[in-house]
Amino acid sequence: MLFRSISYVWSTLIFAGADQIRRDVRRRLMRKFLVQSPVFFEKNTTGSLMAKSTNDVNALGDFAGFGLMSLGDATLYPLGILAIMALTISWKLTLAAVLPLPLLIVVTKKLESRITSTFEAAQEAFERMNERVLENVSGVRVVRAFVREEEQKKQFGVQAEDLFRKNFLFARIIALFTPSARIIPGISTLIALGLGSYFVSTGEISLGNLISFFVYLNLLSWPMMAFGEYIAVAEQAVTAMDRIQELLDYEEEVRDVPEALDYEAKGSICFENFSFTYPGSEVPTLEDISFTLASGQTLGLVGKIGSGKTTLVRSLMHLFPLPSNSLYLDGQPIEKYSLASLRGRIGYVPQQHQLFSRSVRDNVLFGIEEQEDNLICALYKADFLKDLELLPHGLDTLTGERGIALSGGQKQRISIARALLREPDILILDDALSAVDATTESRILSHLQDDREGKTTIITAHRLSAVTGAHLILVLERGRITQRGTHDELMAVDGWYREQFLHQQLEGGNHEYE
Ligand code: ADP
Repeated sequence: MLFRSISYVWSTLIFAGADQIRRDVRRRLMRKFLVQSPVFFEKNTTGSLMAKSTNDVNALGDFAGFGLMSLGDATLYPLGILAIMALTISWKLTLAAVLPLPLLIVVTKKLESRITSTFEAAQEAFERMNERVLENVSGVRVVRAFVREEEQKKQFGVQAEDLFRKNFLFARIIALFTPSARIIPGISTLIALGLGSYFVSTGEISLGNLISFFVYLNLLSWPMMAFGEYIAVAEQAVTAMDRIQELLDYEEEVRDVPEALDYEAKGSICFENFSFTYPGSEVPTLEDISFTLASGQTLGLVGKIGSGKTTLVRSLMHLFPLPSNSLYLDGQPIEKYSLASLRGRIGYVPQQHQLFSRSVRDNVLFGIEEQEDNLICALYKADFLKDLELLPHGLDTLTGERGIALSGGQKQRISIARALLREPDILILDDALSAVDATTESRILSHLQDDREGKTTIITAHRLSAVTGAHLILVLERGRITQRGTHDELMAVDGWYREQFLHQQLEGGNHEYE
């Protein structure tokens, strides 16, 4: 009874500890993911990050739980039995019987590297399968539209088979360990049989003692197997820890300089011969960019797709290492500002809207519940109130993956409301009006004009009507500024801007896109 109670407390503590370790490591990983730059996410695919946060973290937990239990079984328990054997029967016979134990270390060493490499291969196959699931689920509409279901099924089948084989190979290596570990008690039995018979013949021990000795020896076979289990779990944990540690040790490409300044966001921006090349790329994406935007002004950025508009506006958030002394905010080089203060002052609305599986209210508030009173006002400015009336549960309608299907334009407008509610010192709309119709666009722009009075605003757009009111319009072509001026100035000269504007006027565009 006492033994059972101790065992109950011991198991509960050990497994609760294992779960705590899983929870803490997952928290640390999530903290790390949330502060990483885009380079980190290019180097580590979502599938790999998910595999590490699930399978590898589980392997660590298994070691702390099941592994430590097995270690207890493989050490405390046999030590007790050996002590009884040595004290009550014969210490000489006990010593002889444990002589083959070092062989266990030899077997372990031999299998160690194979356990590690097969486990690593199995984890990598799991990462690839994860990646495939993610791609197929998030891209299911494209897969169906192009009737690629069968091909995707086949490809997924290949990956699932690959994972199965790698897991099977791993299970075989582990299974190899158990019989190897079992040979050792066999050798011990042989030694005990020979030496024990001799001791019986010399009268050093009785026959009864020798039989008891064998009974004890038999009890040692379970700890040997437990040792095997422990080694397998420990090897997996070491490999998993290496994989997790690699993420935790990842050095951010962009970090605060010592004694970084707090960005107070008066809002003036100055690019001075600014050139930028993406890490890992050989060709510069932006070259020789120079312009100044006074505090409170609106900048319009236009140009063909791929001309560098997004790269230019995102450089204001300092996501990548930037050339020093070529981008100034309020007169100071951007690298002097702390990243948190910088990004906290900028409201960035990308073209690729991101809605979470929450209500419209939560998507707009997104953590600033104290702004609830201004929620409707932000939705009005983003021209979403009419749409809100049509939603089945109004502000409480679920959006995102698990919620109601919204049009691309509706999602864009919710994202705009989210940014406006924060009243950022610098607002960047990065092609964020691309999916709304021209009338809605002009209503949002007119609300913005009032709302952003005296605050710096940057609008990148494909449709030039979105930037006509800007104080400065830049036309980008292959990463360089080819034209600059106000709408009237640019319309007064021949060039890409005038040509595009007239062309788009003819085209019209009064429809909201999916
Ligand atoms: P735009 O916003 O005008 O469409 P972008 O700034 O998105 O243009 O892209 C400009 C160029 O930079 C493109 O050639 C694109 O392929 C490249 N580019 C964009 N993002 C990356 C990245 N993370 N790594 C390498 N090249 C990139």
